Amino acid sequence: MENIGQIKTLISEADLKKRVEELAKQIYEDYNKRSITFICILKGSVFFTVDLAKHIPSNVKLEFIRVSSYHGTESTGKIELKIDLKDDIEGEDVLIIEDIVDTGRTLSYLKEYLKTKNPKSLKICTLLDKKERRVCEIEPEYVGFNIPDKFVLGYGLDVDEEYRNLPYIGYIDNV
Ligand code: 5GP
Repeated sequence: MENIGQIKTLISEADLKKRVEELAKQIYEDYNKRSITFICILKGSVFFTVDLAKHIPSNVKLEFIRVSSYHGTESTGKIELKIDLKDDIEGEDVLIIEDIVDTGRTLSYLKEYLKTKNPKSLKICTLLDKKERRVCEIEPEYVGFNIPDKFVLGYGLDVDEEYRNLPYIGYIDNV
């Protein structure tokens, strides 16, 4: 692991917990207690998906998909599907669970792809939103926190596959 400098806290563990619980309550009410299919975008959304699902009292099905567009801290703009869905989502209320929306390229690609699977509804829930970096028109229905244009890590988010396990969202000034 290269030296990445000092990690500063952007969102504390307590603030994450509180906001995730609020989002879960809002989602539960909006879906009127119906069953929801969460599509967790690997690997970054794993922590958020699990915590969110645990706070929804109705049935939540879990599906996983993996795309890659990033190398280190820079987007290449090219999206590749690395792991596809295993089950059919036709006719289901689908909520894509994302860790962070940056340019919006990943979600634009995924939304178009998932629409071809004919879900009953398709919405997006992101923990973090870096709105000022947007290139594609993507408006998530649920947003945990709007954040400034900083490279963040922790709570599922990595720096070259490291530091996903931090229980808070941090940032490093020198990357
Ligand atoms: P987008 O396609 O919206 O530009 O980027 C979405 C993906 O880029 C996220 O799912 C995440 O994997 C990665 N990403 C964007 N910004 C950050 C960041 O600040 N930190 C980390 N670790 N990943 C990021």
